Amino acid sequence: MQHSDIIERWREVLGQMAQAARRGGREPDHVRLLAVSKLHSAQDILTLFQAGQTMFGENYVQEALGKVALLPGEISWHFIGHLQTNKVKNVVGRFALVHGVDSLKLARSLQGQAATQGVVQDVLVQVNLAGETQKSGILEAELPELAEFLAASPSLRWQGLMLMPPFFDDPDRARPYFARLRDLAETLRASFGLTLPELSMGMTGDFEAAIEEGATLVRIGTRIFGERGSN
Ligand SMILES: *Cc1c(COP(=O)(O)O)cnc(C)c1O
Repeated sequence: MQHSDIIERWREVLGQMAQAARRGGREPDHVRLLAVSKLHSAQDILTLFQAGQTMFGENYVQEALGKVALLPGEISWHFIGHLQTNKVKNVVGRFALVHGVDSLKLARSLQGQAATQGVVQDVLVQVNLAGETQKSGILEAELPELAEFLAASPSLRWQGLMLMPPFFDDPDRARPYFARLRDLAETLRASFGLTLPELSMGMTGDFEAAIEEGATLVRIGTRIFGERGSN
């Protein structure tokens, strides 16, 4: 895609985000855009960074580290893919936020690595609300144990929840999942006395519904950069 097109699409998305926030009775400032740049070029990322976008999300560790090395240090990188424990050492301290903590094993590994490096790593817990077996995310039934571990981890700062709802053509059908994640965060705040400020939910097909239901971070790729693998 042309650079001017990417910037125009990004501006449109920001406008739609602000409108969705107002429809939901929320402050547009309380919803931030994570531009999902996996499988898109470093040049496209630079174009958008120069236009004012600072947060980018990547799914694949090697691809992401290549881009981190090439691009301006002011960029805030988020890791949004499924993280294997053997890649944890490459992720801790290099990504502002790890979205997909979905097991006690991964949480232990992140805590251990962050402690070794002497850093505090911001993380979100990915919840599999629909119990879809092919998807990552912790099941609600296993959440309390993970939550207790995170709340007591000195080298992890637990910032909230992340969701990939089941896929629907009609975004309104994802709405109950967004609302459920918001309620779950509220329950966890009350139980653990944590602020858990972030709700990472909403992608190209459903970000407006997610914002109306309380998203603070939307993860949008295709709507901004075009189809992956076609650039
Ligand atoms: C790829 C991806 C996105 C972005 O998806 P689009 O439909 O291109 O906006 C968001 N979140 C996660 C976890 C992803 O893997």
